Amino acid sequence: MSSTAKTAAKTVLISGASVAGPALALWLHRYGFTPTVVERAPELRTGGYKVDIRGTAIEVCRRMGVLDEIRAKSTDMRGGSYVDDAGRTIGELPADIFGGRVEEDDEIMRGDLARILYERTRDDVEYLFDDSIAALAEDAHGVTVTFDSGTVRRFDLVVGADGLHSNTRKLAFGPEERFKRHLGAYISIFTAPNHLGLDRWETYHALPKKLLCVYSASGETDAKNLFIFSAPEDVPYDLRDVTEQKRLLADTFAGDGWEVPRLLGHAADADDFYLDSMSLVEMDRWSRGRVVLLGDAAHCSSPASGQGTGLALTGAYVLAGELARAGGDHTVAFARYEERMRPGVEQNQKMAEGFVKEMTVGSKWKIALRMLMVRTLPKTPWKNLIAKKIRDGIQAAANAVPIEDYGVPTATPTEAPATAPTPGALATPTPTPAAGDDTPRPTVTA
Ligand SMILES: Cc1cc2nc3c(=O)[nH]c(=O)nc-3n(C[C@H](O)[C@H](O)[C@H](O)COP(=O)(O)OP(=O)(O)OC[C@H]3O[C@@H](n4cnc5c(N)ncnc54)[C@H](O)[C@@H]3O)c2cc1C
Repeated sequence: MSSTAKTAAKTVLISGASVAGPALALWLHRYGFTPTVVERAPELRTGGYKVDIRGTAIEVCRRMGVLDEIRAKSTDMRGGSYVDDAGRTIGELPADIFGGRVEEDDEIMRGDLARILYERTRDDVEYLFDDSIAALAEDAHGVTVTFDSGTVRRFDLVVGADGLHSNTRKLAFGPEERFKRHLGAYISIFTAPNHLGLDRWETYHALPKKLLCVYSASGETDAKNLFIFSAPEDVPYDLRDVTEQKRLLADTFAGDGWEVPRLLGHAADADDFYLDSMSLVEMDRWSRGRVVLLGDAAHCSSPASGQGTGLALTGAYVLAGELARAGGDHTVAFARYEERMRPGVEQNQKMAEGFVKEMTVGSKWKIALRMLMVRTLPKTPWKNLIAKKIRDGIQAAANAVPIEDYGVPTATPTEAPATAPTPGALATPTPTPAAGDDTPRPTVTA
């Protein structure tokens, strides 16, 4: 056994059971590691917007063996329309032309995806709901984790897959403000009765600095109400409190027309109400010693990119694959994971900034211009050219992280890696010191 193998990681604590966490757990279990997932919520969180599965993420889902289940739960959207204050249709946009999609792409409700990943892993992976990491104390051989519940356990590695407001990031890297960049807007979404009678259709209504969308996806009897609005980060509301989040939404849209009063009325009863800032997480490293970040916790690209879920799935695949390839040597694996992911992540974050501005157009005349385009574009001869330009940009971003075939693992991570790199794969990677700092961290408490 090599010296690497002697110190190789085997037990991995993952914080967060949404998309990135369960996807990583699936791969780690497959590679012979022992993952444990801790989730702060008392049960799996449903709710959320429809999320895109495009480009590389499709292949990752295929390799996970969940692509058919995802396809079976596809939103199957037909298209969307913009309406004016009186609810009259201004123009319609078919999904295939203006959604930036190619035939392979899919879209699924976030909650459905989280459930598929959870169901797929729950028999093999230990899930701890209603708990959270309170403190991490790292030494040369592992990490002692104290949970909010008071339990204390040892793990070889800790992965923060706990989203934009990552607790793991705060404990291991410092306060959120250092890494979060607000893009000037908020997003809110919740389930409500489908009183517009929508069938796989989204209806948009644009106002200065605000955008509303109501849609109903395949198999859903209800609708989703989505609100996007410009606001500075320091709004005078306590956004840790859902009641305050609902108040912010109500105050922001008070007095607006169309269906707004009715849509806001549904917010009061929604038990899956979600509101968060559209922000990027920008860090110059995603690992510190035995702690590494994944998905939104590491590099949130905001809902505007439409790529947060794809990047979370791809990141889970790459992180687990690199850990398996390195025989559990986290210094090598974390460096390789970051090296592979970072260029694609940055490309997507850049795209998100532009999209947020488009979603929250500031003035009435700019909205009028946009509506003129919505009305006339589908009838123009150059509509296919424009659709291609949109599609090419989105597809480039969705394929921005190249993935390798890590092979079917046959060794447990405590043994030397039994799988030779597959043809075309890189040879044993060299660690990049910048991302693999092994300095033990002092005890930190949430
Ligand atoms: C309820 C919900 C609704 C969402 N809705 C949308 C949406 O409408 N549009 C969109 O683009 N994106 C949405 N997202 C974000 C989207 O899921 C992510 O951008 C993307 O899928 C990347 O996933 P992730 O697993 O990295 O992070 P997330 O999906 O954010 O998941 C993080 C997980 O960590 C858990 N967690 C947080 N703190 C702790 C803690 N201290 N201890 C343990 N667990 C913790 C959270 O409860 C959550 O389950 C939503 C996320 C959630 C949780």
